Amino acid sequence: MTDLVDVILPLAIRDTYTYAIPSDMPMPDIGSRVLVPLARKVVIGIVLRPHSAPLSPGITIREVIQLLDPFPIITTPQLKLWQWMSSYYMCPLGDVMAAALPAKALDHHYSMAESKRRRVVIDHFNGTTIPKNALNTPQAEALRNIYTQFESHDIVLLQGVTSSGKTEIYIHLIEEQLQLGHQVLYLVPEIALTTQLTDRLQRIFGTQLRVYHSRVSDAQRMEIYRQQLLDHSPRLIVGARSAVFLPMHHLGLIIMDEEHESSYKQQEPAPRYHARAVAAMMASHANAKLLLGSATPSIESRFLAERGKYGFVTLTQRYQGLQLPAISLIDLKQQYHRKEMYMHFSDPLVLRIRQELEQKKQIILFLNRRGYAPYIQCTQCGKIPTCSDCNVSLTYHRFGHTLVCHYCGRSYPVPTQCPECGGEMKLHGFGTERLEEEVSQLFPEARVARMDLDTTRKKNDYEHIIRAFSNHEVDILIGTQMVTKGLHFDDVSLVAVLNADALISQPDFRSYERAYQMLEQVSGRAGRTGQQGAVFIQSFDIEHPIFRYVCDHATDAFYQAQIEERHRFHFPPFYRQITLTLRHGNEERVSQAAAWLQAQLAIIFGSRCTDVITPAISKIQSLHLRSFNLRIEATSNLSKAKQLLQQQIDTMQSFPAFKGVQVLPDVDPQ
Ligand code: ADP
Ligand code: ZN
Repeated sequence: MTDLVDVILPLAIRDTYTYAIPSDMPMPDIGSRVLVPLARKVVIGIVLRPHSAPLSPGITIREVIQLLDPFPIITTPQLKLWQWMSSYYMCPLGDVMAAALPAKALDHHYSMAESKRRRVVIDHFNGTTIPKNALNTPQAEALRNIYTQFESHDIVLLQGVTSSGKTEIYIHLIEEQLQLGHQVLYLVPEIALTTQLTDRLQRIFGTQLRVYHSRVSDAQRMEIYRQQLLDHSPRLIVGARSAVFLPMHHLGLIIMDEEHESSYKQQEPAPRYHARAVAAMMASHANAKLLLGSATPSIESRFLAERGKYGFVTLTQRYQGLQLPAISLIDLKQQYHRKEMYMHFSDPLVLRIRQELEQKKQIILFLNRRGYAPYIQCTQCGKIPTCSDCNVSLTYHRFGHTLVCHYCGRSYPVPTQCPECGGEMKLHGFGTERLEEEVSQLFPEARVARMDLDTTRKKNDYEHIIRAFSNHEVDILIGTQMVTKGLHFDDVSLVAVLNADALISQPDFRSYERAYQMLEQVSGRAGRTGQQGAVFIQSFDIEHPIFRYVCDHATDAFYQAQIEERHRFHFPPFYRQITLTLRHGNEERVSQAAAWLQAQLAIIFGSRCTDVITPAISKIQSLHLRSFNLRIEATSNLSKAKQLLQQQIDTMQSFPAFKGVQVLPDVDPQ
């Protein structure tokens, strides 16, 4: 008999690899890091299963080279979660491992046993804490309701309008959990949000707070991970999506703020997980509670709350009875017709911005597009330059004077004339960079900052912009969706949405839901203290039904309308969706593979399997794409369906004609 171990390697190929334990090595515990040979390299693996077997002659099994730490670095609950993710999201365990571990854990020179004594507490902390705020009557009632709901539910949805004080309620729950000796995980959708929250939470929880997300340095991430592994003290972890991978002990509560946010879903690479589903699983394994919070809950969560699967608590008033902002729709058709536009600003918007500036108020301008101009086009032949690796049009960036592909990041020189016909090239559309330029021309006296992907590439960029705006060093903040999520500024009196049409024109069953959430959330940044705020929405289509809901802040009515549509058209939450995307460098091959797979699945699943489509962006990074959907009744056996699906994928991939075609299943796509 030989001692063997099945090891997870951070590779997207299969779940485990088997190695032999050398006779002079003790059997490693489950969850330990080991160094193993793979082809001509050495890699780090995690021990999943020790076993022993007689070795058949002629079969050689390679040996584990080294046991890296004197203790397991993955806890049993973590491993259980990895296995759930791998099976639910249809990806190998190796994909989960690669996503879950901090980069340094994949470096075999790093030992978990030795502390590098890095600071894990945040720099500005001055060492003194202050007590939390007392709750007002509606907040206190909501808190009592949450406790009551938790008696009979593991998951509670708190639907509280923007600025109702949801964060204050979370603080009360957190304090109680810490006093009970528990750990708390507090998830936020954007790193930008952790910046503001960190200040607020640190004043109350001091050194019990840790912040974990992708902008935290590798060394610090590793140290936080290590501390979570070895030190079971009560603690509050604030983090973005990837914080669900930390080891937690005595987990009492997970708070997921802005639970409707689609950035909780990882799109690329696998595992394509939704942090809400993972958090629910984590809480259930640990016997902990999960609180979902939002002013505009996802249709799915609201549905589960209506059905009694989740507890449901509402908070309908803003703190101190402030009114929700007054919303004005501006008809761009009419404005252009009357020639009452200043660049991309309507006349009423310009006047209002001037007024607010005179009163020393602050303004947020929201535009869902970064760069200067979304595309350039030849005035003679109509040619639009596209990326040679992805078939998407290139965005013009004035900074650096380049054309950039927003899919792969590749940049190109700007042609002085059309490469096809020599005609003149013209800029089309507008992005945040151009908006910034227009603002400085229209309001030269105003101090302006821009927050988008291009201005927040470095570690502390978010912090600088948010601080500057909070400290009134900036009058007008321009931004993409980053500025819409959960940020709190005292003196923002006006929020303007420059081009609302871009939000509603997406061809996707979730596009109205997303547009509504975004408009309601961005409005929620206005008038958070003192007077009622104002929101100006510019659109070419002001009759669009979505604006009625937005103007009335009619979240409940909007939900009713959406849920009926979802039911009628067989969409989630009534049906579970799995999107299958096939990918290969050869277009013919991927197209045939997709046709074959779809035909097989249509035999099994009938009309639950949609036709193959060529996605609007049909090539990314030189790989051609085809896709289709499976929609399975929510009441049916989903794991059985996934099994049947996986069998067909495996069969397809075993045909030489389809060699190398990748299949990317996306379970519950966003
Ligand atoms: P939400 O999370 O619902 O958007 P916040 O918790 O950020 O709302 O509250 C909005 C503002 O009102 C914050 O500045 C917060 O400090 C203040 N606030 C809310 N409730 C209270 C309270 N009970 N005591 C003091 N300030 C409060
Ligand atoms: Zn590209």
